[in-house]
Amino acid sequence: MAYQALYRVWRSQRFDDVVGQKAITQTLKNAIIQHKTSHAYLFTGPRGTGKTSAAKIFAKAINCPNSVDGEPCNHCEMCLSITEGRQEDVIEIDAASNNGVEEIRFIRDRANYAPIQAKYKVYIVDEVHMLSTGAFNALLKTLEEPKENVIFILATTEPHKIPLTIISRTQRFDFKRIGVQDIVEHLEHILKEIDVAFEEEAIFVIARAAEGGMRDALSILDQAISFSDGTVTLADAMAVTGSLTYEMMDQYLSQAFHHEVEGALESLTAILAEGKEARRFLEDMLLYCRDLLMYQQAPKIIEEKSGQLTDSFKNLSEEIPAEVLYEYIRLLNETQSEVRFTNSPNIYLEVVTVKLATLKSASPVAQPALVAESQASGEMHASTAEISQLQQQISQLQQELQQLKDTGQPVSAKPATNGKAENRKTATMRIPKEQVFQILQEATRDNLNQLRQVWGDLLDMLPVQQKALMRHSEPIAAGPNKFLLAFEYEIICQRATDDVNLKATLQNNLSRLMTDYAPEPLFIPKEAWPELRQAFVTIAQEQPQQIAEIGNEDQVAMPQNSEESVEEAQKLFGSLVTVVDD
Ligand SMILES: [Zn+2]
Repeated sequence: MAYQALYRVWRSQRFDDVVGQKAITQTLKNAIIQHKTSHAYLFTGPRGTGKTSAAKIFAKAINCPNSVDGEPCNHCEMCLSITEGRQEDVIEIDAASNNGVEEIRFIRDRANYAPIQAKYKVYIVDEVHMLSTGAFNALLKTLEEPKENVIFILATTEPHKIPLTIISRTQRFDFKRIGVQDIVEHLEHILKEIDVAFEEEAIFVIARAAEGGMRDALSILDQAISFSDGTVTLADAMAVTGSLTYEMMDQYLSQAFHHEVEGALESLTAILAEGKEARRFLEDMLLYCRDLLMYQQAPKIIEEKSGQLTDSFKNLSEEIPAEVLYEYIRLLNETQSEVRFTNSPNIYLEVVTVKLATLKSASPVAQPALVAESQASGEMHASTAEISQLQQQISQLQQELQQLKDTGQPVSAKPATNGKAENRKTATMRIPKEQVFQILQEATRDNLNQLRQVWGDLLDMLPVQQKALMRHSEPIAAGPNKFLLAFEYEIICQRATDDVNLKATLQNNLSRLMTDYAPEPLFIPKEAWPELRQAFVTIAQEQPQQIAEIGNEDQVAMPQNSEESVEEAQKLFGSLVTVVDD
């Protein structure tokens, strides 16, 4: 016998077999028992929630001569002919493929004739929202003059597309998404019946991926069975659904929480390299963070819902405070809506990864090399960094203390302490300081204003991918030939630098926007800016000669004597202060 899809074989044949819609099936059974059926029903709800199955069961139960308690017998000729789709008094129409007025007129004409074999003629119109306006009008006429032995069951996933005049003439039932636990039980029942071994966690993964639709759940299970080697394993389910394993999510989140920016980005790359889709990744991470949060409040619910939990999941939920999880969820949510409209979702994933991994640690901390520099020059940022680092250490100590109090056990060894993690930080991009200084030396407020005025128009002229990069940047200093473009995140700056065409595209478009002014951009990460600026000011004050030399190196016309250089630097020093105050 040819292989039949699980969802066909296991389609419910009785109201009591319809999973997760107890209230609806009970009401329909009662109507049949009490002979109080309506002449038109509207079944709404997401796909795979049992609408058409319930409609067919209804058609059988109302026509079955052996019906007991409102259920069909499923053995008589009437029941069999309906199940097999050869009963001419039960007519199934898929509006998605028959949306013509003719079709509905035909129904209307035929509906005038009494049923031949059955007691009731039943029309089941699936995806009824797909009908054209003309067809709806024809249907409305039919519903306005109900025939005694004719019943219409209209099914739809999109009830808002159905005219109110139709809805008001029907009895409406809203089918709910089926709960994960209900789906799990049903799948396990089927697997036992067909004698296929399985890992319990695998079934939870499948049930979750089905998003409340039993038909999807059964299709995924079908794939997992054919993918598996006799036993449906967690790995099979993960592969088929494209879900992330808990281990991957554990690792990623743990790295983010410990501020291991580099490690988290590596994990992200590994996850994406496995072919995970960006949107799927965000969804899985959101669910995961939500589960962590819920596990803190109501561990039992999550244990029941997810089956077995890994130790690292439990550890993470103890470790990450609820406020941080709320913030993670907010950031992931934000990214989810950004990603909806872009062709380059991976960039957003990298940005959100950096955001997650630098959360609560202010940007100066993420730049130890520069921090050291500024300590030498007695800069303010150094102390800010120190303070925030100390604050973190204190809060970690408090956490450990609390855990010690609660459990009487010292905290288990962690992959990295906060202090260590900070020292790892991102691989710093090489910044061509000489070029930066040269631009700063020539920079004027006028040039910057000119550039800022056309900035919005410039972005609009860029292709989507480049626009996505540039959204995270702003011009911060501009001279007659070059300008400094600061990127919010180093990773984005690196990407912009890697895009070989970006500079030329920007310059080209600038020349179209302004006459006589099309400076060449130099990309820097924003977090490096305060230090660069400070270093420049220091050099300008103490070693005016050096600036002149830098200028010469790059063969740009520069004032040759040092007095002029000092003047030049002081002029700049003044203009820079105003730039910074912006
Ligand atoms: Zn029967």
